[in-house]
Amino acid sequence: MTELSDLNLLEAAQALRSGMTTSQELTETCLARIEACDDAVQAFLALTPDLAMQQAKSADERILSWRKKSDEPLPLVCGIPLAVKDVLCLQDVPTTCGSRILEGFRPPYTATSVQRLIQAGSVILGKTNTDEFAMGSSTENSAYGPTHNPWKLERVPGGSSGGSAAAVAARMCFAALGTDTGGSVRQPASFCGVSGLKTSYGRVSRYGLIAYGSSLDTVGCLARNAADLQPIFTIMAGHDPLDSTCLVDPVPQVSLDQIELRGLRIGVPREYFIEGMQTEVETSVREAVGVYESLGAVVSEISLPHTDLAVPVYYLIAPAEASANLARFDGIRFGPRIEGADLLAEYLDTRGTLFGSEVKRRIMLGTYALSAGYYDAYYGQAQKVRTLIKADFEEAFQKVDLIACPVAPTTAFPIGQHGDDPLAMYLEDVFTLPANLAGVPGLSFPVGYDSDGLPIGMQLIAPHLAEASLLQATHAYQSTTAWHKEQPSL
Ligand code: GLN
Repeated sequence: MTELSDLNLLEAAQALRSGMTTSQELTETCLARIEACDDAVQAFLALTPDLAMQQAKSADERILSWRKKSDEPLPLVCGIPLAVKDVLCLQDVPTTCGSRILEGFRPPYTATSVQRLIQAGSVILGKTNTDEFAMGSSTENSAYGPTHNPWKLERVPGGSSGGSAAAVAARMCFAALGTDTGGSVRQPASFCGVSGLKTSYGRVSRYGLIAYGSSLDTVGCLARNAADLQPIFTIMAGHDPLDSTCLVDPVPQVSLDQIELRGLRIGVPREYFIEGMQTEVETSVREAVGVYESLGAVVSEISLPHTDLAVPVYYLIAPAEASANLARFDGIRFGPRIEGADLLAEYLDTRGTLFGSEVKRRIMLGTYALSAGYYDAYYGQAQKVRTLIKADFEEAFQKVDLIACPVAPTTAFPIGQHGDDPLAMYLEDVFTLPANLAGVPGLSFPVGYDSDGLPIGMQLIAPHLAEASLLQATHAYQSTTAWHKEQPSL
């Protein structure tokens, strides 16, 4: 018999509509699954079982009255248990960003993305682990310890939304919210064998997302397949007066089957197959591209010539913006304070003690890059090169509809592998950073497994605001293949 937790989001929504199950039952199933698996996986930083059961009860009432009169449309996410990355505020629930500096902080408001899902009837199970302030590619930078990859517990789940990816892969929730500043939705989705959507910059409100790199930050979602991502995306997206960078463009109602693969032009950038990458990653990605070709797509090799500059450019812009955004954490306004002899000592001790080393490294890098005399040479120059990277995409999208490429050079690496080598960790991001610098959307999904049984991901990248094409094209692939149905045995 299929366990409730084995259902995907759309199947669970169907089961709720037909009365085969209730939201309270789904929520209890997820909580039991968390209880059984999360000691090993460590995906959650905080659980909200009381809130979840209360939301599930209201959802059940809403579903019941929908069944009686059916005049008001029932959102697909109504009654569905979700997890939320711990960089998104949830009113009165501890929100730490994986940092000691926010230990015990309970925000007085809820992020718009989360609020919209709650209004649509979703159930929030808790907050998931993240690299501190979303800075990292493995979730090892969390002050609360690493999350473990459900496919192999001694491997990282990717990062920084590693808790969300692991929770979805281990079937502790039906979907989860993550954020992607430089790859943090797509790369953990790839490492954990789930589907992850990075939205276009400006598509989803950042209100209530604790800022890391404000010109790069996007809210995204992770689920078991593209069809499950769609209802979450359409509810979260769209204008929000509380975020001045959130676009007014209408969010299209995505009809998943409405894509003509025959003649769809897919570009494969030659710069995304580099020396030293895992051979199995390249093989699986090329095979997946072959599947699109067999479905009628026209595949061609393209060039994104400034790809190799994405790592240095991103690691100037992101720390620069972070150094400004994180100035507010000083022990005075939020979280705990380390008492000092005078005000300056208090600031220095609080920030020196409660920020982790990666966060401090980035604050120092960013402060330096922004300092008088160096601003033009570093930050200004990086912004100019960023424009070239954006232009690469614009030019490519004159010739192709979508870009297909690997998400990361390797599959999930062992916990501790990059230990004290931040540069090695930064290089993990080569294939994900360009989309953030250009502001375009990307979707990562499983296209195979390596010889250790670890998932391999591929990403599709689309022009700005073309999330619909990503969801449709991924759905077309997932309708003819079964990689996304594999589950870790936990
Ligand atoms: N790994 C990148 C970084 O550390 C991206 C993280 C993210 O997308 N939040 O900045």
